[in-house]
Amino acid sequence: MKQVLILGGGAAGLAAAVELSRRGILSTVVDSAPSAGGMAARLACKGSPACQHCDACLPHDLRREALLSPMVNLLVSSELGFIARGEHGFQATVRRPEGCEDYDFSAVILAVGALPFDPDKDPRLHSRDSPDIISSLDIERSLAESNSLAVPSTGRVPESMAIIQCVGSRDSRHGAPYCSKACCKYGSKLGRRLRHLYPGLRLTFFYMDWRPVDAGEAAPEDWAAEDEMVRAVRSRPSEILAAGRPVVRYATEADNLVEESFDIVMLSVGMLPRPDNPRLAEAFGIGVDEHGFLVSELEDVIVAGTCAGPRDLGESIEEGTAAAGRAAAYLGARP
Ligand SMILES: Cc1cc2nc3c(=O)[nH]c(=O)nc-3n(C[C@H](O)[C@H](O)[C@H](O)COP(=O)(O)OP(=O)(O)OC[C@H]3O[C@@H](n4cnc5c(N)ncnc54)[C@H](O)[C@@H]3O)c2cc1C
Ligand code: SF4
Ligand code: SF4
Repeated sequence: MKQVLILGGGAAGLAAAVELSRRGILSTVVDSAPSAGGMAARLACKGSPACQHCDACLPHDLRREALLSPMVNLLVSSELGFIARGEHGFQATVRRPEGCEDYDFSAVILAVGALPFDPDKDPRLHSRDSPDIISSLDIERSLAESNSLAVPSTGRVPESMAIIQCVGSRDSRHGAPYCSKACCKYGSKLGRRLRHLYPGLRLTFFYMDWRPVDAGEAAPEDWAAEDEMVRAVRSRPSEILAAGRPVVRYATEADNLVEESFDIVMLSVGMLPRPDNPRLAEAFGIGVDEHGFLVSELEDVIVAGTCAGPRDLGESIEEGTAAAGRAAAYLGARP
């Protein structure tokens, strides 16, 4: 029976597997992590209290459907060993905790995702120097695990917080030159979630431009107009100082330099290509773009999700589904 290799079991890979299964096509999903779901498995529900359409729960449903389907062979804690193009597709060895398994695949979907920017890489952020300067991923984790957030240095309920957008994005010196596309969406939804959890929390949202995925999403100024505890500051801070409480240094629109301290500074980190993309590209005979994301023009090697560039969950899922459609068309056209 013909089958498709899906490398990466995040939102895009799971969507591809589920779509192939619905079309009666067998797939093997290989994921190096101990469980499928990818980045989304680390994200919190941002319902505050009603659903905010952050999409973080969508991969859970896909994972459930993939696990229940006899047409999806989901291999976690597994890696691709040997891979070679043969006469009718690819011969591959998958390294599993129990040992190696050999497979023949007719087509491949690469959905290995991207990596969140590590704020320690930008010395101006001083994230190593203060426990209270934290990444958005730390806040996602705290909300996902305990539905709460404490000031890391004191354990107290936070009374003030700065959200800094575009960290590691739109900055070629200290990150990547492109827009990471998902962080306006998740940064503002995390902020709204926190405002609901902590009515006494004063929140300052620092941003350059408003680029939500959903054009209907309220802009930061509108959010500030409807909530007196929220302030929207159109500025990219030049430095975060780690003196006692973290201090945000920024220029106002009138070009005055201001320093303000907060209980917590949240860094809305963007996405970077995985460093092993060039190796993967070489193994599958495809390419990488100028930033290091995967690109393929081959009919039988399809890329989907954030391994092809920054995307939010909705778009990654759409691309995974579309990749399955293209793989199905390719398989259908072959004897
Ligand atoms: C801090 C943060 C918060 C976010 N919050 C939101 C949000 O609220 N809403 C939203 O829409 N989007 C959000 N995003 C974006 C969202 O995480 C991505 O759009 C989505 O995870 C992309 O899915 P994916 O399947 O392409 O990749 P991933 O989710 O990264 O999945 C890739 C999978 O591939 C596996 N893998 C990697 N390399 C290999 C390999 N060599 N072999 C085998 N397996 C491999 C990984 O283990 C992983 O399971 C956020 C991003 C960040 C950084
Ligand atoms: S995870 Fe996001 S999309 Fe899902 S219920 Fe919560 S707020 Fe809504
Ligand atoms: S999505 Fe928003 S926060 Fe993220 S890089 Fe683009 S403009 Fe900046």
